[in-house]
Amino acid sequence: MENKGVFSDLITQLTKLPGIGRKSAQRLAFFILKMPSEGAKEIGQAIFDVKDRLAFCEICNNVTEGTLCSICANPNRITQKVLIVEEPSTLYAMERTGAYKGLYHVLLGVLAPLSGSEVMAQTVDNLMQRLKKGGITEVIIATNPTIEGEATALYLSRLIKPLNIMVTRIATGIPVGIDLEYADEVTLAKSLQGRREIDPA
Ligand SMILES: [Zn+2]
Repeated sequence: MENKGVFSDLITQLTKLPGIGRKSAQRLAFFILKMPSEGAKEIGQAIFDVKDRLAFCEICNNVTEGTLCSICANPNRITQKVLIVEEPSTLYAMERTGAYKGLYHVLLGVLAPLSGSEVMAQTVDNLMQRLKKGGITEVIIATNPTIEGEATALYLSRLIKPLNIMVTRIATGIPVGIDLEYADEVTLAKSLQGRREIDPA
């Protein structure tokens, strides 16, 4: 009976992950059970390490092992431009293009009134404090081309405009509903080049 408890506990833990229902969790749990011990331990250790060693950058919320991420700590980045993304994964996708040399701000979420977005409220606060310090001339909004992403872009542009900072939105050309992190590098670089000023009025 004890073994059954351990197994069902694993299933319960796995269902906490996004997109994993009871059935998928069961399938994963059986897979883990059949794995060599070493492989299963590596998965557990990787999860532990990510929580133990990684944090969010104090300036931009990118993932980092220190207090500042490698981009914020890099003196060669252009500090007048800030590109806003929903998640670090989009930041990595943008970095892979090599087309952007400015700084970032990661929202760690998106405007979603129904699900609540307390994390994003905090990161938006941080963004506004960052912009009010001065020195930033352009904010490029690269939220995903989804309903929530567009709503967030408009919301941010309304907040930022009064600060007399140019607010641009990356060009579409990326199919609606697609996460930017899955866009190829050429498409992403082109959408950055083709960005247009947002007029929130
Ligand atoms: Zn950073």
